[in-house]
Amino acid sequence: MEHHKIVIIGGGPAGLALAMGLHDKGLGDCVVLEREQEAGGIPRHCGHLGFGFYNRRRVLTGPKFAAKLRAATAQFDVRTRTTVLDFTLRGTLRVQNEKGISEISADRYVLATGTRESSGAARLIGGARVPGVMNTGTLQQLVYLKHQKPFLKPLIVGSEWVSFSSLMTCRHAGITPVAMITEGPKLDAPIYFGLGARLAFGVPVKRNTKLIAVHGTKQVEAAEVETNGKRRMIACDGVVITGKFRAENALFSNGLIERDGTSPKVTQQFRTSKPNIYAVGNVLGHLETAGLCMVRARTLAEMIAGDLA
Ligand SMILES: Cc1cc2nc3c(=O)[nH]c(=O)nc-3n(C[C@H](O)[C@H](O)[C@H](O)COP(=O)(O)OP(=O)(O)OC[C@H]3O[C@@H](n4cnc5c(N)ncnc54)[C@H](O)[C@@H]3O)c2cc1C
Repeated sequence: MEHHKIVIIGGGPAGLALAMGLHDKGLGDCVVLEREQEAGGIPRHCGHLGFGFYNRRRVLTGPKFAAKLRAATAQFDVRTRTTVLDFTLRGTLRVQNEKGISEISADRYVLATGTRESSGAARLIGGARVPGVMNTGTLQQLVYLKHQKPFLKPLIVGSEWVSFSSLMTCRHAGITPVAMITEGPKLDAPIYFGLGARLAFGVPVKRNTKLIAVHGTKQVEAAEVETNGKRRMIACDGVVITGKFRAENALFSNGLIERDGTSPKVTQQFRTSKPNIYAVGNVLGHLETAGLCMVRARTLAEMIAGDLA
């Protein structure tokens, strides 16, 4: 069976920064497994500016930032189109790529699988399951990677900073959201984001407003919302359900390691309840900036190097 010192699951900013840190420490026998066709993680499809300030002191778009990460790790063993299916009972990884399914073992494993927005179903939003309902990640992939325009006047649900990222994605594609709604009395992002949405994008932000159901037959036709106990319809042709991030937990939802909510529970040294499995980056549950995830991954590289010394 193929064996390595370290296997990193996920080739986003955290996984790639960890690989860089490990190589700097002389730990070259390290493999990154990434299920997408190219490494880089979420920034690959975030076409707006905002990446790199924390660690590079330069602000780049997501795709440029991801390209720089790929260039910096081009000489490393980063395997794309390679999905980790699960941990076996023996503690090895079952991995699928175009050649089929195989097993890989390692002295140390690192979960760097990131996070994702909760779906409409997870948020108990009722109504029709029709095309045009998606989260920010899918919207960005359609707009920035596939150059599509999935709708013209969607409703944006949520007011976290990622919700404003979907607003910028809409603007990039020439899409005009009809409104942004948020359940609470305040925005989840800083107040000036809301002002920007209204003044710069012409999109009204409705507080204390909850999405109850999506209506439509072939495509979204309206969203039923409730404000202070009163229900009404907002005509729209799409709904973007944003934020409420949960760890990408497919690999450990079976009780493999202890969890803290949906995320792996880790020590300050990023170690999970299994001593040979670590976790780093947004899989830890919070949506941090890419730069912060990378700084933490570098710290983890030092810890692993010390551990294996
Ligand atoms: C809409 C949006 C806008 C953002 N804007 C900014 C911004 O402007 N500036 C900023 O600094 N940050 C921004 N962020 C946050 C930034 O994208 C994250 O902090 C960063 O991507 C986290 O890196 P990560 O490596 O932990 O996770 P990810 O980037 O999610 O990477 C995880 C990788 O793991 C892979 N993976 C998952 N499961 C498996 C598996 N089973 N097998 C193999 N591979 C797997 C995924 O394909 C993915 O490539 C934004 C995030 C979002 C969602």
